[in-house]
Amino acid sequence: MDSCPIEEIEKVKTTLKYPVKLIEDNKKDFLWDFKNSIKSHVITHPSPVNEKFFHLNLLHEFIHGLHYERFSKAFSKNNFIIEYKDDPLVELKIPDYFNCARDWFVNAHIYRKCFKEMSLWNQTDYNKCSKYINELGDKTLNERQMLSAGLIFAEADKWQNLTPPNYQNLQQVVEAYISVSPETPSLKKLESLIKSLFSSIGSFIAKMALEDGLPKWTIYKA
Ligand SMILES: [Zn+2]
Repeated sequence: MDSCPIEEIEKVKTTLKYPVKLIEDNKKDFLWDFKNSIKSHVITHPSPVNEKFFHLNLLHEFIHGLHYERFSKAFSKNNFIIEYKDDPLVELKIPDYFNCARDWFVNAHIYRKCFKEMSLWNQTDYNKCSKYINELGDKTLNERQMLSAGLIFAEADKWQNLTPPNYQNLQQVVEAYISVSPETPSLKKLESLIKSLFSSIGSFIAKMALEDGLPKWTIYKA
C-alpha cells in the first residue's frame, strides 16, 4: 500500500533542486512551504502513527514543492489584493480557491504515478462526503467545504468514473474542475481553473495580471 508513494517521494527528492526539511508536529496538518531564508522546502507533518494515508499525504506535499520549482511560483504563493471589504471573512475564504485549484494538479500527478493507492484514498473521502451530502444536501456546505467536496467528486469522476451526487451547486463546482485538464500544469490552466471556481460558487470575480512575471490577482465582489 505504501511502497508506491514511498518510491515516488524518493524520485521527487532526486529531481528537486533545493533540499527538503521535514518537521514532525502533531498539532499541525500536512503543509508544504518554501523558506527563502534557508533556501529549502519545508514540509510539516503529523506523526505517521495514526495516519492511514501518511505517505500519500507526504507525497502530495512533495509534489507542491516540485510544482514550485518546475512551473510558475503561482503554484505556491497566493498573491492577491481584495477590492472590497464588505465580508469580514473574505481574507480567509480566498486562499481556499487557490489551494484547491493547485491540489487539482498535484493530485493528478499522484493519480498518474500511484493510481491504486490514490483511488483508495479518494474513495474513502468520496464515501464520507457522499454520506454527509446525501443526508443533508449541499446547502449546508460553506465555501471551503464546497471547494473540497467538489475536488473529491471531480477526482472520483475523472479518474475513477464515480458519479458525483446530483446537487446543482456542487455539480457546478465539480464541472469547474473537470473543465481544466490537470495532467500538464501551466499558469494559463491555473488561471482558468481559479476563474471557473470563482464563477461556480458566485461570490467573487478574479482578475489576473502579471507583475514581474508573477501573477497578481485582484478580487472583486460578484
Ligand atoms: Zn495541497
